[in-house]
Amino acid sequence: MNVREIQSKAILSTSKVYEYVINPYVGCQHACSYCYARFMKRFSGHKEPWGGFVDVKRNAADLLQAEIHKKRRGSVWISGVCDPYQPLEAKYKITRECLGILAQNDWPVIIQTRSPLVLRDMDILKEARSFEVGLTITTADDDIRKLFEPNAPPIMERLSTLDELHRSGIRTYAMIAPILPGAEVLARTLEGKVDYILVDRMNYHYADWVYRKYGLEDKLSDDYFHKTSREIATACRESGIDCRLTF
Ligand code: SF4
Repeated sequence: MNVREIQSKAILSTSKVYEYVINPYVGCQHACSYCYARFMKRFSGHKEPWGGFVDVKRNAADLLQAEIHKKRRGSVWISGVCDPYQPLEAKYKITRECLGILAQNDWPVIIQTRSPLVLRDMDILKEARSFEVGLTITTADDDIRKLFEPNAPPIMERLSTLDELHRSGIRTYAMIAPILPGAEVLARTLEGKVDYILVDRMNYHYADWVYRKYGLEDKLSDDYFHKTSREIATACRESGIDCRLTF
């Protein structure tokens, strides 16, 4: 793993998903096989495989402290092209520092991660008035998770993280994207842990080789995605969970 500490030029970027996005890191240790963010390799000049490098934006908090007073208040997504709570965050606390500044200035924040490390920052999350936390959960089957996301935390840890956040009064959501084999039953396991569920197909083909290697090609069809998303939507309706399909 090539870890570099860098000085970034800016941190609060405009985004098509929410008004702003903050990426505290370039690169991601989770190295999910389907990750669309691997295009960052081209922009950062790294030659290592995706997951083999991380640039740490050491000056992120200083930049944010300056930029936040120059920009119009808006929703901030953390993060778009890295996991803000990848293992290096335990050491560097870049995400934590940025969240502290956003909370002090009362900006709305949408956190998106796969890691229970987010619980470390419960003090900030509880105090902030308009923060919400999403855990990405792509399947209920941890054996499938190991095939596609071997370096990311187990599914049970993500579910218990949502549970703890939700019980602490923090607004939570689950992002089911991409829909991996075994996603059908996720909605039932999320009952009582989330305020809403987002389902996105994320139709990228980087992980097709994983489907082929493990004989899962039938789970890559349009039929499977539509059938599974319908099953998730029905289960949500029955459980009273707000479900948003974004495709
Ligand atoms: S956690 Fe997100 S950013 Fe990181 S490798 Fe997985 S999909 Fe990509």
